[in-house]
Amino acid sequence: MKNIVVGAGISGAVVANLLAEKLSEEITVLEQRVHIAGNCFDYKEDGITVQKYGAHIFHTDNIEVWKFLRRYTDFNQYMHKVVAVIDGIHTTIPFSIPSIYSTFPPSLAQKLERKLLEKYTYGSKVPISDFLQQDDEDLRFLANFVYDKIFKDYTAKQWGVKVSELSSKVSSRVPVNISMDQRYFTDKYQGIPVNGYTEMIQRILDHKLISVKLNSCFSGDLKSELLKDSQKGLVRIFYTGSIDELLDYKYGVLPYRSLKFEFSKVNRDFYQENSVVNYPCNYDFTRIHEFKYFLSEQTPSTIIAKEYPIEYKLGENERYYPIDNHSNNSLYQRYKEHLQATFTNVFVLGRLGDYHYYDMDDSVEKALNLIHSI
Ligand code: UDP
Repeated sequence: MKNIVVGAGISGAVVANLLAEKLSEEITVLEQRVHIAGNCFDYKEDGITVQKYGAHIFHTDNIEVWKFLRRYTDFNQYMHKVVAVIDGIHTTIPFSIPSIYSTFPPSLAQKLERKLLEKYTYGSKVPISDFLQQDDEDLRFLANFVYDKIFKDYTAKQWGVKVSELSSKVSSRVPVNISMDQRYFTDKYQGIPVNGYTEMIQRILDHKLISVKLNSCFSGDLKSELLKDSQKGLVRIFYTGSIDELLDYKYGVLPYRSLKFEFSKVNRDFYQENSVVNYPCNYDFTRIHEFKYFLSEQTPSTIIAKEYPIEYKLGENERYYPIDNHSNNSLYQRYKEHLQATFTNVFVLGRLGDYHYYDMDDSVEKALNLIHSI
């Protein structure tokens, strides 16, 4: 059987690789952009590995995912921390015990720490929605501070909605940490591919049975012919784009959130103190990325990107984040049911195909599972 993979991002690359390795079948990967690697794409400029679609930090607890990727790249030992500037005060998020000490005067910080440790087990990670439920006056002050300064405005910028209107799954990605751990991720395995994500994905795709076609849209006659062939059992299609596009927007456009990056070269060693600095409650951008930190690149100048969340507009900008709410999930389900009722050899996957806020390791895991199930 022939296989078409639509999209050369991390999901498409892993599926293509497994089809070649495990089924020894031919695969054509159609990529509409001029480069592989999807939103993980990075490139070298002035000796710095720049991540075109924003900072990606690999992290996983899944040993199978880790073992799979390690066949194609080594990872450095980078453990991600995020500095947040809150009304001029520099602290770290997720908010943790050290964040309390860098934000409040010592006497107040000591009182808050003591009360937190009386209430929570050391090491707990508390979603902000639960953290707001405090009986004690001092802890209520702390919870309101964290909510107001870290979540409220960032969420309005990032999603264009109030925290209460956002799925709690999204805000609980960044819990309050009742510990000294200042890392952004606590997964067992973390790091950045030593030669970048593009090279890692290039190597995943590097197989004699895989051919990658850049600048190739899955649309028009090609799409109709391939869908007909899939009905006849001649071809399998693995589609990592958005399901509404696959089905010609027959039920309407699925909403997403998009991003705009404002890149600058700065003629000094470092621009800021950390790879990512969040501005949760100040300015219109959410964060500033400084790329040279990720691979400890020694260069005389630096490259930064300010990240501005924007509304996704079909045909005008890129899809970055599915927006998890009841009406969008129902629209997605309607498309999925139509797909399953109409086509037999068409599989959707990835952040767009599944309309799910996957991290990179989730995408690899889903792709591994999909191919094992075939
Ligand atoms: N968040 C926030 N303030 C922050 C960081 C995150 O309110 O300083 C919330 C926000 O709603 C965001 C979510 O937590 O969309 C998830 O953050 P994460 O850093 O995981 O987002 P990503 O890196 O995937 O864009």
